[in-house]
Amino acid sequence: MDRLTHFDPAEVAVPSGHWVGGRELDDGVAALDVTRPSDGTVHARVMEAGAGVVRAAVASALAGQQAWAKLRPRERAQRMRRWADLVDRDRDRLARLEAVVSSRCFHEARGADVPAVAEWLRFYAEYADKLEGQVTASGDDRLSLVLREPYGVVGVITPWNFPLFLATWKLAPAIAAGNAVVVKASELTPWSVQALAQLATEAGLPDGVINVVHGTGPVTGQALVKDPDVAYVTFTGSTATGARIMADAAAANIKPVALELGGKSATVVHADCGELDLVADHVTWSITRNAGQLCYAGSRLVVDERVADDLLARIASRMRELVAGPTWSPGTSMPPIISERQWRRIDELVRRTVDEGASLVCGGQPSRQQAGCYYPGTILDRVQPGMTGHREEIFGPVLAVQRFGAPEDALKLANHPVYGLSAAVFTRDVNTALHAARGLKAGTVWVNRWGRTPEMMTSPFGGYGQSGFGKESGRAGIENFLRSKSVWIDLADKAEMSQGGRR
Ligand code: NAD
Repeated sequence: MDRLTHFDPAEVAVPSGHWVGGRELDDGVAALDVTRPSDGTVHARVMEAGAGVVRAAVASALAGQQAWAKLRPRERAQRMRRWADLVDRDRDRLARLEAVVSSRCFHEARGADVPAVAEWLRFYAEYADKLEGQVTASGDDRLSLVLREPYGVVGVITPWNFPLFLATWKLAPAIAAGNAVVVKASELTPWSVQALAQLATEAGLPDGVINVVHGTGPVTGQALVKDPDVAYVTFTGSTATGARIMADAAAANIKPVALELGGKSATVVHADCGELDLVADHVTWSITRNAGQLCYAGSRLVVDERVADDLLARIASRMRELVAGPTWSPGTSMPPIISERQWRRIDELVRRTVDEGASLVCGGQPSRQQAGCYYPGTILDRVQPGMTGHREEIFGPVLAVQRFGAPEDALKLANHPVYGLSAAVFTRDVNTALHAARGLKAGTVWVNRWGRTPEMMTSPFGGYGQSGFGKESGRAGIENFLRSKSVWIDLADKAEMSQGGRR
């Protein structure tokens, strides 16, 4: 290993089975290759859970949930905090497992993602004993209680782009509310979540509270969402898969689902945006972070014609400075695209948009390092509504630019006909900012900044339109995992029959 690498990828050991009931479950069939996107090497194989393994995991979760629910909420909180401490202790190992087969750079996984996982566990631990119900007296002789109850077993399905953090987003509030979970991580990035689950057992969470099964969507994912003992499904991934899960789980089985889906988020820049260099920093980061493989990436720029050329030149120069390289190299600022298929798709969507009349300002040239697939920061200018680059979520470092002449046209251009995950607006005028905050059709709006910070865990996050429903983060994030039960208590000596009945 040379000085220019954080770790030797070949030395990263990975689990061999699923994680069920507090131990590794090895069903002997290693079915799927897991490839390192940084260099195209198959790192190891992972088993695919069929219906039998999924059933075993759900059965284990049912038992685990019973044991978890017996603990007093403060005790549950304490164990979650202990779990967070173990995440801090194993920060390097978790970051290596995250970086080796995903597009997350080790320095970001270690510096941001793993600490955020620990924070998230602590944040939701604090809710465990504060989930009050409601008591109402009705006259002297009746009391009404509204109890808040966990669903039982929650199915958690997550994508490959921030594997560890996106799984924690869901499982921390789910278990703080008293549920047990079965997680199916993406088959492209299976192991970091399993390592996290192992730490839960070490922290004293009862066996079966956190289970992890591996496999593809059509096999393992389907078995999980259709399992009759999975009472609730929470999903993060593409809009197409979300629709499928809604049909298979929600519609077919009358099962509640929460869906965090794709996006095509706009950043609106007005002529009075202030320091253009600062705006360029935000916009560049918004579309190149994790090589644009981010659900709330700022993939559209809606910019006042008067500052457009100047701003685009600054963004292009920042994009050209980014260094493509493996996730284990400290110098990498443009990590690989997750798979060759996704890399080809990005290029195809860029070409199509250019053919439709957009102009290429920079980028647009895919490259390879060994067998890893890389894509440079790319700007497509003068993209019109209806063009491919406006319609489709590209999920790569590709910025689609629309210009406006009259400021009152900005919101019309910014609101997307399909997606509404997040939006940002840059202006120094308070009226313009408030008008935008109210008029933008998105679940989150940032003013004079782009992107989440750790303290934003206190407020809800989630989409409008086909970006999904069911908020995560903040208090709303835990409400999802509770249902209410009404209890009426009659205190009178002789309870009155319902209307029309006799005493
Ligand atoms: P994907 O939809 O292909 O897969 C997501 C997960 O669903 C994977 O674990 C996959 O195995 C599983 N899956 C696939 N088909 C399934 C089926 N029929 N039944 C059950 N499970 C199934 O998405 P991806 O390519 O892994 O991730 C990229 C997408 O995720 C992008 O569209 C991105 O915008 C979205 N995303 C959204 C958010 C958000 O918070 N809104 C966050 C991150 C990623």
